Amino acid sequence: MNGAAQVVLHERAAAATRNKFGKKVFVRAVVEVSNFCRENCHYCGMRRDNRSLARFRAKYEQIAELLIHHRPASVTDVNIQTGEDPVAVREVVVPLIKTLRRETSLGISVCLGTLHPELYDELQNAGASIFIMKFESGDATQYEQLEAPGTLAERLRHIRLLAENNWNVSSGFITGLPGQTPRDLLKNLELAHSLPLHGCSVSPFIPGESTPLAKNPTANADWTFNCVSALRLMRPDWIIPAVSAFNLAAQDGYRRGLRVGANLVTMNLTPTDVRGDYVIYKRDRFIMTEERVLNAISAEGLAPSTQGLAEFYRSRPANVVAGERTFANAVQM
Ligand code: SF4
Repeated sequence: MNGAAQVVLHERAAAATRNKFGKKVFVRAVVEVSNFCRENCHYCGMRRDNRSLARFRAKYEQIAELLIHHRPASVTDVNIQTGEDPVAVREVVVPLIKTLRRETSLGISVCLGTLHPELYDELQNAGASIFIMKFESGDATQYEQLEAPGTLAERLRHIRLLAENNWNVSSGFITGLPGQTPRDLLKNLELAHSLPLHGCSVSPFIPGESTPLAKNPTANADWTFNCVSALRLMRPDWIIPAVSAFNLAAQDGYRRGLRVGANLVTMNLTPTDVRGDYVIYKRDRFIMTEERVLNAISAEGLAPSTQGLAEFYRSRPANVVAGERTFANAVQM
């Protein structure tokens, strides 16, 4: 969809966002603490078969010092991210969360891959409350062809398990994967709608260096932003991030994301000495610094939320479904 119908879709999504969240946008920091990964996803530069990548695990003390003493004032939450690396979870992420819980009031999200359920408990006991687990593609065959982690059924089982164990779970999918059709995107939206989620991201496919998909084209930006708007209309209460890859898919894409339904921004606080090796797509990533994030918010006439994301979830009654629309109604255009 493009042209006048697309304008209407995006305006409806923007209005739904403002109606639910006003002009406030949640501001989170991300720290990438390990790029070791035991998985082999075709769309990711950190896949285990990429032998050209220098691997690192950060020292938790260095990241803790950064977040406790040098984080920007607007940051209310932190997302701790790794490749699928259980060693880093035990040695870096859990001690980091414990330290942050003791020293700060930051809300804590994690994006660490599919792990043993005991590790989920350990992370939760340490003080994390939001788990990001993307299903990437809602088509089981494509999921398998892409060598995404485990199987789609297993991934969905873990999403449900996390939700049953009182995590606030956010998921996500990729638009513009090679061979993906509009019908596949509808399937993704439908799957997201059926899961016990509190948020969902839409990531445009960016052909990653040193990956099997390196020669494929970047995602169609219209499809990407239309999916953001459809998600917003489907679930006005969800947290939908503006992802930095929006800027790789379209000129001014990050701001466009904020205009069509996104209500969370993330600034990258990964120490610069290791950031270059965290190559989900390619080395010249579009890094969202504090300045870029705050400029984007203010240019769109929005303001950073003083209420944190974890706090927002805590303040909502359990199993909130207010404002939910049926999938069919939401995407009816
Ligand atoms: S997407 Fe995640 S699990 Fe897959 S290869 Fe990249 S870091 Fe590993």
